[in-house]
Parts: sequence; C-alpha cells; structure tokens
Amino acid sequence: MTSSIEKQVKDHFHYLHNHAEISWEEVETTKFIKRKLEEAGCKVEVFKEHTGVIGKFGDFSKGLPVVGIRADMDALWQEVNGTFQANHSCGHDAHMSMVLGVLWKLTQIPNLKEQVAVKFIFQPAEEHGNGALKMIEQGVVEDVDYLFGVHLRPKQEVAMGKAAPVIVHGAAISFEAAIKGEDAHGARPHLNANAIEVGAHIVQMLSQVHLDPRVPHSVKMTKFQAGGKSSNIIPGNASFSLDLRAQTNQVMNELEKKVIQILETAKDLHGVDIEYTKESSIVAAETNDTAIQIMKEAIGEVLGEANLKEDLVTPGGDDFHFYTIKKPELKATMLGLGCDLGPGLHHPNMKFNEDALIHGVDILSQAIKNVYGL
Ligand SMILES: [Zn+2]
Ligand SMILES: [Zn+2]
Repeated sequence: MTSSIEKQVKDHFHYLHNHAEISWEEVETTKFIKRKLEEAGCKVEVFKEHTGVIGKFGDFSKGLPVVGIRADMDALWQEVNGTFQANHSCGHDAHMSMVLGVLWKLTQIPNLKEQVAVKFIFQPAEEHGNGALKMIEQGVVEDVDYLFGVHLRPKQEVAMGKAAPVIVHGAAISFEAAIKGEDAHGARPHLNANAIEVGAHIVQMLSQVHLDPRVPHSVKMTKFQAGGKSSNIIPGNASFSLDLRAQTNQVMNELEKKVIQILETAKDLHGVDIEYTKESSIVAAETNDTAIQIMKEAIGEVLGEANLKEDLVTPGGDDFHFYTIKKPELKATMLGLGCDLGPGLHHPNMKFNEDALIHGVDILSQAIKNVYGL
C-alpha cells in the first residue's frame, strides 16, 4: 500500500519535474519550496540576491546538534526530443521531493520538534558548481554540525533497492583558453605560428602528464576551434577548452600545475599569447567516518544489511563537497540511492523508478533520528 507521504513525494516530484528551472533561475522552484516549508511549520529564510531557500525545523535554542539536509534545485538546459529546454536530467527534482518527504515524516512523529534542530537547505546552481559556495558565503552551515545530501545513482553503480552511505566524488576543473596570434597567407607558413599546430602540440604535451597511477585522473582537450571559410589562411587564433579530473584534491592540485606549465611552455615555444581562465572547479569528497557510519546504520535499518553498498567511488563531481572544504569539522556525507536509473545522469531522457523515492525519504529520516539517538 502506498503511504500518504509516498504519494505526496511522488506528486511533488512530478510537479517539480514539470517546472524545471536552470541554475540561478530557480525562482518558481524557490517559491514553491518556501510555501511547502512554511506549511510544514518551518521558520523560512530566502535570499534577496539569489534563489535558494532554508527551512528550520525543531528547537535551535537549547544547543542541540544541528543537522543540515541539503537538496540541490537546478535543472540542465538541453535538447529533449528536438526542443531545447530546462530539463531535470540530474534528478535534482527527486532530491527536492525526497527532502520535503523527510520533513513531512518528521512532522508526523509526536513531540519530535522539541528534540531536534534540522535545517532544510535547498541549494541553487549545483550544476554551475558555485551554488554551495554561495550558501556558505551566506553563513548557511555556520551552525550546522552534521550535513546529509543525496544523489540518485545510475543503475550501473547502485541497483534499485540498494544504497551507498557515501559518494566519493572526484575533483573537476575546466579551463577556457584562447591562442592569440596573427593570421598568415597559406604560402608563407614561416610568418606566423599556426594556431592548429600550437593546439596539437598542447594535446601532445597533455598526453604526457604522468601522476600517481593509483589515483584515477585525466586531462583532455574538449573543444578546439580555429580557422574560417578561407582554407588558404593559416589561422593565428584559436579557442579551446580543457577538462581535468582527479579522484583526490591533492592529485588535482598537481594536475592543475602541470597543465598551467604546459600552456606556458606552448606560449614560449610558439611565440604566441595564450589566455586561459578557470571556468569551473569542483573539489573531491573529503569523507567523514562518523557521518558515513550514521548513514550505514540508517540504510541497514531501512533496506536491510544485504542492501547496504560499499562506499561508492565515482569520477563525477558535486559541489556538495565545498561545504566540508570550507568547514572541515562538518560531519557530512552523501547518500547514493539506487533507483534503476538509465540511460544515465544528464541524458535528456533520463528515467528512474519512482518507488525508490520513499527509500531516500526513509533512509535520510532514519539518519537524522540516529544523530539524536531517537
Ligand atoms: Zn548534474
Ligand atoms: Zn546532480
């Protein structure tokens, strides 16, 4: 039988799915969540300059540990069946509805409000990689001791009915760069540096970056544009992008240094200017044993020990980890929820089994109760 909370969570998921908004534009989503938080008796905070909303539930006056529970809110902009639109293909609509479900579940437990201090953090712009940083800047986690997040997992990583107590995301950086030189006549290749050759040399040097092979890492060029309509011009200018990944923050630091060295070397060697800017940067997970243990127990209690997955290591990224980088004493972890998700996250037609939503609600509520020993 479907419980009323399960039905509510699914209904809210459908509503949010059909009202997708991209990063920093989650205006209607913010209003909708704000209303839901108020209806459930939360003290609500919104921000003048940007989207996102916080709901406080419980008693924050008597020094109880504060548990934060974070849901990301933004959708992606992509082509879905021939039309460009905002699309919730990363499951943030599911995360929001599950976190609301946790709130409803807590409100149903008699006298719980005096025994907990839970902060519901609805964070904008995860896909931009800077929403969490904005929340930190606003002081959202200043009073928070424990922080739980959740993300749907592809079926290849976690099967339906199972869950992982931590998602060990890797670090990611992207660079946008431009080679700035001069064009030359096709008959006079000695008069300029061919931007395509400069780019090819950069690709070659990137393939020779060697870092600790025990830590997964990669760097590659993901865009290169040079030249125009006239095939008798040797282009002096080009633009390109680089994508860097590493499973630890330490290896990412080394990788970034090497990449910058390579760009500087190409500059000197070819006598061109290369301008580069870091477009986005996401840190790798710094894991916390206390938080992982709490989540493990919650998964065991809700899904059974047999459905508790080991720690999930994935090359994907999430700006959730900025919270622990900026506040290392935070006991934080992200639940990785199995939900039969396919063909993949960010796929325009991403689908999952909505029956998993209630698993997420139950596990996260249990984790909160475990913090307070309830
Ligand atoms: Zn995503
Ligand atoms: Zn996501």
